[in-house]
Amino acid sequence: MVSTRGKLVVGNWKMNGSRAANSVLLDALKASAPYPASVAVCVPAPFLRDVAASLQGSHIAWGAQDCSSHASGAFTGEVSAAMLAEFGCRYVIVGHSERRAMHGESDRLVAEKAARALASALTPIVCVGETLAEREAGQTEAVVSRQLGAAIELLGDAVAQIVLAYEPVWAIGTGKTASPAEAEAVHAALRAQLTAASAAAVDVSILYGGSVKADNAASLFGQADIDGGLVGGAALNAEQFAAICKAAA
Ligand code: PEP
Repeated sequence: MVSTRGKLVVGNWKMNGSRAANSVLLDALKASAPYPASVAVCVPAPFLRDVAASLQGSHIAWGAQDCSSHASGAFTGEVSAAMLAEFGCRYVIVGHSERRAMHGESDRLVAEKAARALASALTPIVCVGETLAEREAGQTEAVVSRQLGAAIELLGDAVAQIVLAYEPVWAIGTGKTASPAEAEAVHAALRAQLTAASAAAVDVSILYGGSVKADNAASLFGQADIDGGLVGGAALNAEQFAAICKAAA
């Protein structure tokens, strides 16, 4: 099957922003359009209404950073995928390493969140990645394969509808980036696992995340199996983020 996957750059604002600052950031991003790639921002849930109003009709999509594994009910503090869909979200990040580490999210729970997202017609951006200790122990491929494997097991052929993000934990917010060759090796292994699971998954975009900046984006995005980026810190700076998006030609 010939792949038609395009480049995608997603900003993860994490727990940052304010209504005033977001408005300035989004105006600047819209002013820098068009971009050669698909672009999205994943924002804190309380900002979704403002962000939707700002980005409606633009070429920039929006999404959230997490969703519940449940459809509805007595889950205080959680936000359902269906609620995110009501605010026009296209994407939702699931299984970010900060949630896996700080909120004890298991591979199975992350897969369940991805399934909920798909049931509400959202595209889950499923994050996988190894810690520094796991990399140094030579376990990188085993770890990411186990994490992706949980999604494949639960989703079956629907895994073809996800976006996958490889984010080595040691590279997130640290200024350390996997070299393009290191990242490409993991992406190629993930691509092989996906296509072995489902022929349709040949079109799954695999994003790299971990200290992507304007000056390293082009070399990372130039790798055969790197289809764009999931960008944290640099997504809060319009000039940096726009330059990263433009590097995804
Ligand atoms: C992230 O939070 O997904 C991320 C990749 O962060 P940073 O770009 O800041 O390393």
